[in-house]
Amino acid sequence: TYILAIETSCDETAAAIIKNGTDIISNVVSSQIDSHKRFGGVVPEIASRHHVEQMTVVIEEALSQANMTPSDLTAVAVTEGPGLVGALLIGINAAKAFAFAHQLPLVGTHHIAGHIYANNLMQPMEFPLLALVVSGGHTEIVLMKEHGHFELIGETRDDAAGEAYDKVARVLNLPYPGGPHIDRLAHEATEAVKFPRVWLEEGSYDFSFSGLKSAVINYKHNMDQRGEEIIPAQVAKGFQDSVVEVLTAKTLRAARQFDVKQVIAAGGVSANKGLRTSLEQTFAQEGIPLYVPPLHLCTDNAAMIGAAAHYMYEAGVRGNLAMNGRPGMELTSWVK
Ligand code: ATP
Ligand code: FE
Ligand code: MG
Repeated sequence: TYILAIETSCDETAAAIIKNGTDIISNVVSSQIDSHKRFGGVVPEIASRHHVEQMTVVIEEALSQANMTPSDLTAVAVTEGPGLVGALLIGINAAKAFAFAHQLPLVGTHHIAGHIYANNLMQPMEFPLLALVVSGGHTEIVLMKEHGHFELIGETRDDAAGEAYDKVARVLNLPYPGGPHIDRLAHEATEAVKFPRVWLEEGSYDFSFSGLKSAVINYKHNMDQRGEEIIPAQVAKGFQDSVVEVLTAKTLRAARQFDVKQVIAAGGVSANKGLRTSLEQTFAQEGIPLYVPPLHLCTDNAAMIGAAAHYMYEAGVRGNLAMNGRPGMELTSWVK
């Protein structure tokens, strides 16, 4: 298959052409981060407006870089959810119009399935596999027994890992998005402020990061009250050490329990160097292959949507012109 994939769930306007769910023919991402930076987060209204401006530009660019015309395509795929509804709808309506105009089948894809399938663009996924999904809105451990099968093993009960990163970054007066800045700072420190590890009940694969975030806020507050200066790098390292230790330990325990063939990381926070190093060391020791996509495939892009959509298309999943944005869409299996 040759699938034109479109992604507009948050603040990147993206289009890509993917062959057979594995090969990137073209991959175009237009980021809006600069427009949202001064607000310290994504402003939905601004995001939608950018998507409107950039949508046709990135689609045309994806086709021209691939040196393809619409008649070369098998299907059009688009992120159906979750995400900002106004942002999703720009991509969905572009996909509908394109599919209708060129008489192509339409496939609606889950954004997190996309993040997981980013890995399939690097090496074939082998099952059973465990995916650690860590992004701006999600922190989940997902078990896959075959293509299109998703079982939620654990998830965050409050903040997502990326959300915690961005909030702690704000406390440290770092620019948005804060994840990469905390990561960089953490590597500059040799000592770390000691923050708690939140394990929850014995045996739980769930996560909680809001307490850790509060611990950082309280630490800063107490230091301010005493008139002492915090050392941002040591705070960053303390926070990152806690997040990474818990994510790594729970992923390892799940990988053992479900006897998986591969562990993969997915989502923007898997770009984190501390997390990558920790996962790499842990799973090298354990003898389970670990894969983390290159940075540009960790954060939002359309290539990952095209990779997931290939397997949906092959399984007979089809959308239609009634497709709507689904901001709270759940990750469900498409194989029964
Ligand atoms: P979702 O995929 O859940 O809908 P999203 O699309 O906003 O959310 P992504 O684009 O996958 O999330 O990831 C963005 C998040 O990744 C941000 O919170 C950002 O701070 C974080 N991030 C990016 N790079 C790093 C890094 N090196 N270390 C930690 N966090 C990072
Ligand atoms: Fe994402
Ligand atoms: Mg993003």
